[in-house]
Amino acid sequence: MKIILLGAPGAGKGTQAALIKDRYGIPHISTGDIFRANIREGTPLGIKVKSIIDSGNLVPDGLTVEIVKDRLSKPDCDGGYILDGFPRTLAQAEALDGFTDIDVVIDVAVPAETVVKRISGRRMCKCGETYHISTYKDACCAKCSQPLYQRDDDKEDVVKERLRVYESQTKPIADHYAAKGKLSVVEGTGSVETIFADIARILDDHR
Ligand code: AMP
Repeated sequence: MKIILLGAPGAGKGTQAALIKDRYGIPHISTGDIFRANIREGTPLGIKVKSIIDSGNLVPDGLTVEIVKDRLSKPDCDGGYILDGFPRTLAQAEALDGFTDIDVVIDVAVPAETVVKRISGRRMCKCGETYHISTYKDACCAKCSQPLYQRDDDKEDVVKERLRVYESQTKPIADHYAAKGKLSVVEGTGSVETIFADIARILDDHR
C-alpha cells in the first residue's frame, strides 16, 4: 500500500505514520526527518537546506523530488510506504504522479489554533520519539534517556511562517487527490488511538 499523509505541521502525521508502519509493516518516509538527519550529520545536502528549514520555507521542489525518488527506489519500499511531509506543493504531487501510483491519501484535519498549541509544546529526541510538554514533564527521553530538545523551526515566529506556507502551497494538494478519488479526511483532534482507528479503517478498506 502506497500512502500519503497530508495535514498541517503539527497535525500528528509523524505519530500516525509510526503507528501505520508498525501495523502494516511498511516504511515511514518523512522528508523532514531526511533533511534533519542530513543537517545533523553536516552533509552537503544538510548545509544547503539548513537556512531554508530554519526560516520555515520549503526546500526547492527539484531537490526534494530527487531525494524522494531515490528513497522510493530502495528495496524496502517494494511493498509500499507511508509518505509524511511529501508532497508539499502541487509541483511535487505532479512529479510523484510521474513515477509512482499512490493508493490512498489521508488528510489529517486539525484547526490552526490546535496546531500552534501542539507545535509550541512539542519536544523531540534524537532517537525519533516525540513528546508534548502537557503530558510529559521529564527533560530526557523515556526510551533512550537522551535530552529532549525543541526543533528550531518549532519556535513561534517560524511556526507562523510554516503555517502560512502550508495554507498557500500544501493545502491545495488535497484537491489534486480528491479529483482522482484518492482522498480521505480524518478528524485529527481526538486521541492518538481514536485517530489511528479511523485511519486503520480506511487503510483496511484498501487492502
Ligand atoms: P516537517 O518535519 O515535515 O515539518 O518538515 C520540516 C521542514 O523541512 C519543512 O518546514 C520544510 O522546510 C522542509 N521540508 C520537509 N518536507 C518538504 C517537502 N516535501 N518540500 C519542501 N520542503 C520540505
